[in-house]
Amino acid sequence: MTEMPKTLLRYHEHPDYWMWACIAVDHSFAVHIWARKRPQSEEAQLGFGEYYGGVEQHRPPREGEEADHSLCPFLNGPCCHDGSSLAFDEFKTAVAESIREQTPHRILNKACDWFERRWNYYNEKAVSDEHTRQD
Ligand SMILES: [Zn+2]
Repeated sequence: MTEMPKTLLRYHEHPDYWMWACIAVDHSFAVHIWARKRPQSEEAQLGFGEYYGGVEQHRPPREGEEADHSLCPFLNGPCCHDGSSLAFDEFKTAVAESIREQTPHRILNKACDWFERRWNYYNEKAVSDEHTRQD
């Protein structure tokens, strides 16, 4: 287990839109979560949940790998990122389903707990990917 970096930013807050990011202190890794309120017409028409969003991990490109973007706002440099709406569903179940009834402080606390679990998951995955490539 790698200890989660303590840098947690909630850098956007709007009645219908939220973003959080957890960034490693050495800028080697970041997890970024965003959530948006679905337009009511779409929600009613398609029967989706009230919120949708994504979870993305950001890391520097490996040797020979092309960056997805050259200046990542989380890493302050080139970045490869990968996202998952399924991971957001997991977060939503824990946090955002009741986002309207929660204070921002409480949401951040829940997000911290959630980040810590994801942080360990991503780190363990990164280590196992590293071993696979060297085999
Ligand atoms: Zn990035």
